[in-house]
Amino acid sequence: MTVSLDTPLTQFPGVGAVRAGKLSKLGLEKAGDLLLRYPRDYEDRRQLYSIRQAPLGTRVCISAMAAEHPRLSRIRKGLELVQLKVVDQTGVLHLTFFNQSYVQRALQAGEEYIFFGTVEEQGRRRTMVNPIFERADRPNVTGRIMPIYHLTAGISNHLLASLTQQALPCAGSLPETLPAGLRQHYQLAELEFALKNIHFPQDEEALDLARRRLTFEELFYLSVGLTLLKDRRGEETGFPVPPQPQGDFEALLPFAPTQAQARVMGEIAADLSSGRPMNRLVQGDVGSGKTAVAAFAAWLAARGGYQSALMAPTEVLAEQHARSLSALLAPAGIRVGLLTGSLPAAEKRKIRAALAAGEIDLAVGTHALISADVSFARLGLIIADEQHRFGVAQRAALAAKGTAEGAPHVLVMSATPIPRTLALIIYGDLDVSVIDQLPPGRTPVETYIIREDKRERMYNFVRQQVAQGRQVYLICPAVEDNPDAALPGEEHPTLNLKAVTSYAAQLQKDVFPDLRLGVLHGKLRPREKEAVMAAFAKGDIQVLVATTVVEVGVDVPNASLMIIENADRFGLSQLHQLRGRVGRGKHQSYCVLVTSTRNPESMQRLRVLSSTTDGFRIAEEDLKLRGPGDFFGSRQHGLPQLKIADLAGDTRLLTQAQQAARDLLAEDPALQRPENRPVLARVRQLFADTPDIFN
Ligand code: ADP
Ligand code: MG
Repeated sequence: MTVSLDTPLTQFPGVGAVRAGKLSKLGLEKAGDLLLRYPRDYEDRRQLYSIRQAPLGTRVCISAMAAEHPRLSRIRKGLELVQLKVVDQTGVLHLTFFNQSYVQRALQAGEEYIFFGTVEEQGRRRTMVNPIFERADRPNVTGRIMPIYHLTAGISNHLLASLTQQALPCAGSLPETLPAGLRQHYQLAELEFALKNIHFPQDEEALDLARRRLTFEELFYLSVGLTLLKDRRGEETGFPVPPQPQGDFEALLPFAPTQAQARVMGEIAADLSSGRPMNRLVQGDVGSGKTAVAAFAAWLAARGGYQSALMAPTEVLAEQHARSLSALLAPAGIRVGLLTGSLPAAEKRKIRAALAAGEIDLAVGTHALISADVSFARLGLIIADEQHRFGVAQRAALAAKGTAEGAPHVLVMSATPIPRTLALIIYGDLDVSVIDQLPPGRTPVETYIIREDKRERMYNFVRQQVAQGRQVYLICPAVEDNPDAALPGEEHPTLNLKAVTSYAAQLQKDVFPDLRLGVLHGKLRPREKEAVMAAFAKGDIQVLVATTVVEVGVDVPNASLMIIENADRFGLSQLHQLRGRVGRGKHQSYCVLVTSTRNPESMQRLRVLSSTTDGFRIAEEDLKLRGPGDFFGSRQHGLPQLKIADLAGDTRLLTQAQQAARDLLAEDPALQRPENRPVLARVRQLFADTPDIFN
């Protein structure tokens, strides 16, 4: 069979309709697709061992002769064994195959084979179960570095590797998309070489070259895309919002802004009046006072005659923002409205009508605000709070709410300090302001790690804080995200929704009969949530038992104690966020991480948190320990999925790729030169999931 890039996989031997269906689930339809699906790992099968010398417990290749005809025995229905002995000069190896009766015919007594599997020892007897094997005179899947792919049910790595190998000859017909000059300058391998060696590397060096080229390529296209995005935004017309005396706004605040806040407000005012759409990220650790900065932007916009929309990641947070912004801005005549997905339909209709009529100046809400049926009379500013939940795609969708007159200004606020490397990529399309100062009078939160058996003491501490008039958060692992999380104090059982509620009920009954407890979780109805939060804010609830819905942004200055159950189940950045809910007032605050983990790595992670309150350091550690995938949860950043680049490790390459992208766009801003067209095509492809970006 001659294979071309377009040969459908159904034409490959061994691929019928069923397998083709499963392969297509992996995004594999034709030969060319196989080439672009890189291995996730490799297995070095180059070294051949003798039976005696083979190390135990790890997968190895052994060259040996079948010493007898394989014996087939049926143990019972559904369990067949094939067994045989194989030999070399050093000894005998006993092989067993489960439910692979074809092996009886595939192995011939007296022939040499290479067996790949794990050697075990039972007494003096060496054994191997279900090895992969092939004739020693035509090695194909042994004697080399083999790729390991991400799989799906019904598709083995063996099959994928063999299909990919058959597709490999057409690697040369894929067009080279990196301009030759660039390849030369950065010493990058050619595409054909890279593809062949990423799948079946000749040796480590070839694999390194292949990986370098493909990683560079990926980061390069990503950088080009983000730079184009930024430039494009820069060319649009922005609504001109005239500057106002900053003091007029400061008079509304119950406090004087910090220097950092004042500086960032200045940057925002300059953006808004520039005639170009603002595209700015405000990064500030928890408690640095981002809300006031957002309020300033909305205030300026309203004064200039424009509406603003503020999007929060959760309804709890949206409601809180609506409450506090309304209190702050109402004296200036600014009308604030709340729009969330779960408001009663009639209420939603009313708010939407008011937005369309221009009767609301600042709309606060969740994702509901970007839905197509919400229209604004004069939307001039979009604010996204807690940016890591609002990816590039969502930002683009929001910005598309502009009109012929201009594109709305966009302000995103993030409390998750992002490590520098990651920030370069994720915020490649934004200007960045940093609020690097906390409001005065804050004492750092004291953090303790305690084990389950100290639970009683922890309860006493709760009691003591409440006696001093303070309030307490008690967090359980998120219910929805974490179906197999254990109830605090238990080993394994499932934590379901009822568990949070029943944990609270049990605490109320057995531990704190005299205290006022409340429960907050994501499955409550918005009205209920709002009522609970309001009661906690007023001090009516003393101990709030909650899931991570309080993770972002919730602000109750009187709360001085944050207890996190099963703390080892959370990411470091998330724990830092949770800890940020306390230490917001004038009282000394505490964070107690409860854990029963025996895992030294988990303990090490938790200790990072007790040793520093610097969000950036914590984020760096988190990234190092967990990798960027987990760092952001399931692709929350909305960037194209990276196939090969490792954002935690490939910093140098990233810097080079960004330089290359800038250089290229400086010479050919719209990528119109013939030699650069393939680059544009690839960038479009990469951002295909983010359709609004490049049209
Ligand atoms: P975050 O950056 O985490 O969103 P917030 O905007 O919620 O922080 O502010 C945290 C707390 O600090 C709030 O109670 C807010 O009123 C208060 N705050 C903000 N700025 C200042 C300031 N300049 N001086 C005193 N308190 C401030
Ligand atoms: Mg906030």
